[in-house]
Amino acid sequence: MFKKVPGTRDILPQEVSRWQNIEEISRRVFTIYNYQEIRSPVIEEALLFNRSLGDSTEIVQKQMFLTKSAKSTYALRPEGTASVARSYIENNLNKTQGFVKLYYIGPMFRLERPQKGRLRQFHHLGCEVIGSVEPLTDVEIISLADNLLEAFSIADYQIHLNSLGCSKDKKELARIIHKGLKDKLSKLCADCRRRLKINILRVLDCKNKTCQEVVRKLNIHDEHLCLQCKNNFEKIKEGLDLLKIDYHINPFLVRGLDYYTGTVFEITHKQLGAQDALGAGGRYDNLIKELGGTQAGAIGFAFGIERLLLVSNPKPQTSNPKLVYIIPLGEKARIEGSKLLDNLRKAGIASDTDYEGKSLKGAMRRANDLGAKYVVIIGEDEIKKSVVTLKDMESGEQREVRQNDIVRELQNKSQIPNHKSQTNPNIK
Ligand code: AMP
Repeated sequence: MFKKVPGTRDILPQEVSRWQNIEEISRRVFTIYNYQEIRSPVIEEALLFNRSLGDSTEIVQKQMFLTKSAKSTYALRPEGTASVARSYIENNLNKTQGFVKLYYIGPMFRLERPQKGRLRQFHHLGCEVIGSVEPLTDVEIISLADNLLEAFSIADYQIHLNSLGCSKDKKELARIIHKGLKDKLSKLCADCRRRLKINILRVLDCKNKTCQEVVRKLNIHDEHLCLQCKNNFEKIKEGLDLLKIDYHINPFLVRGLDYYTGTVFEITHKQLGAQDALGAGGRYDNLIKELGGTQAGAIGFAFGIERLLLVSNPKPQTSNPKLVYIIPLGEKARIEGSKLLDNLRKAGIASDTDYEGKSLKGAMRRANDLGAKYVVIIGEDEIKKSVVTLKDMESGEQREVRQNDIVRELQNKSQIPNHKSQTNPNIK
């Protein structure tokens, strides 16, 4: 028997309503903020990620699912920002639309060691604003993340905020760290000793307790920021205060990817345990140019949907209370039943039937399990009289309705928003 690949999950029908709920809420909130959806391919040239995330990042070094073709190496996308940036440049969105606000929902792939909250195929729900360096876009992005969490009814999360500053400031930060740590190498873990050489900022957010103690003593605040970046960061904090968004300044938050400049933020939730990040994001003002586009300031974030689901309250499983279930008894009834089913569906009424030839009792039990609101029984008697028996499953009331009237009758009772008109010409 085949088993699923470690670190992947089947999302079974009883779970899907929670996913749909998150997706529907996201689309609604993104639309309120005037973001448009973008769907980019799940495979990209691997080099896109080397160039954008950086050769020395963990994702590029160890976590990409790669496959080679004759000419290129392709990667299953490990994140969405690089793909959106590539798409923005390739489709000339800078010329046709300039300033864009985009969102995406879809699977991402990283070859990680699977554990709780860490999968090899997981799902991002993210957005990008491209074409502005205005600090108020940072405020909008963080307020959007905050409002999404509120819309998902998730509470008790923490927003951690920092500014890495522009490229020059990042170099200055690297210099400060290097100066402070060069004679403390023996106190650092092996990973950090390597990071000092290849990805020095990552030393700041090492999870190792001893490294953290050493790093805390560096007393890093915002000394690395130039005047412009300092001012921008002040404006962002003021904007967030104005909107009463709670955040914590964390000078040790760096986010590992090369493309980040300026604002970086992470949203954590205690309930998640070791993998406590619900989502994260930041500015990447140089990426579009790096990838061959024009200079365009940009900022974005992504939530991990699996982690959102771990901390949101499971909604009780909803059956379909408006479902109409047709029970045909006998061969002739089966044909009548399939015609009625087609008409109900064309009229926009959720409906189903028994395909297993169950007895009346068995089929009623199935209707009950499905949470059907009405059952329509068609037997020989009914066919002779050109009627059907309509049973209201809630009240138990049962009566005969003329065959010709049943669609209209159920249509009147059905509260499902019906985009098809009552005079649908397809209804026979
Ligand atoms: P990142 O691009 O690593 O900042 O990821 C953004 C968010 O995606 C994280 O905060 C997590 O919620 C989620 N995420 C990242 N990697 C994984 C993974 N391997 N499995 C599940 N969720 C993940």
